[in-house]
Amino acid sequence: MPADSAPAISFEFFPPATPEATLRLWRSVERLAPLGPEFVSVTYGAGGATRDRTMAAILTIRDRARLNVAGHLTCVGASREQTLAVARAYAKLGVRRIVALRGDPPKGAARFEPHPDGFRSAAELVAALRAAGDWKISVAAYPEVHPESPSLAADLDNLKRKIDAGADEAITQFFFDNEDYFRFVDAARKAGIEAPIVPGVLPIENFKRMSNFAARCKARVPDWMAKAYENADELGVTELLSAAICAEQCEELLAQGAPRLHFYTLNNPDLTFSVCRALGVQPTPMQIAAQGCG
Ligand code: FAD
Repeated sequence: MPADSAPAISFEFFPPATPEATLRLWRSVERLAPLGPEFVSVTYGAGGATRDRTMAAILTIRDRARLNVAGHLTCVGASREQTLAVARAYAKLGVRRIVALRGDPPKGAARFEPHPDGFRSAAELVAALRAAGDWKISVAAYPEVHPESPSLAADLDNLKRKIDAGADEAITQFFFDNEDYFRFVDAARKAGIEAPIVPGVLPIENFKRMSNFAARCKARVPDWMAKAYENADELGVTELLSAAICAEQCEELLAQGAPRLHFYTLNNPDLTFSVCRALGVQPTPMQIAAQGCG
């Protein structure tokens, strides 16, 4: 596939908590940056728990890889002013793109309780960001419906509120059955949502860990996968299976018009790298030279 028809991609990382994890993040960025992502994003822990680490990771990626970086931002446990102060701090680092989220309840809390002076939803955060500056704003979408939402229609109403408040695009929770994404995009278009809906893709590094993670996010894991991983495990070919499953999922998403692929890398670059290469994404010499890692 010629380089100019390679798909648009973005990568998500989480902020590291230990020196070893910091090295792993840097290795991930170094490996994936030459693939020329539109941007990479760094997640933000519930209640601002990772605020300083998110900032540090953004700074490192900006300075060492010269990539466009998006900072995630949540509303949990912070006043409106405190939340917007983080956005201003992002701007000082040169970050012009924000993934605006309500956030999950902190550990131990059953449900989201807004701070007394805080934003009550992602839609409120988006509106405030739009009023405060010239951000490129992404929001979350859920092809299998957000676990707290009573119905698809209610969830689409919520997504529409976020887009109408000024978000530029939605990035989805990961999913394994592309039909869920196609149905969701169709329903969103019928509900009057015109913004790009970018599929979030999770390459499976470890089937068991992914299954636990998926259960927490209420993302469905198709039955056939368990058997396929059991067989692949016996044969020692799980990595091959994961690359094949993910590349095939991405191929179909792109063939049916997905505007970009957003990879949840979990700071493990190798599988994401293989899948992107399989999709025709070429490492570009210019980016390699710019980073001095060629
Ligand atoms: P919202 O869009 O505000 O919606 C949350 C729920 O409330 C939905 O069920 C919605 O339908 C309902 N709702 C909202 N407003 C109303 C209303 N007015 N009336 C009725 N119902 C309403 N979490 C983190 O902690 N850090 C991260 O960095 C992070 N990054 C993420 C990135 C992506 C791409 C995705 C998909 C998720 C991410 N999350 C992250 C998880 C996210 O914070 C959770 O899924 C959270 O539970 C919901 O956040 P939201 O922005 O979708 O919330």
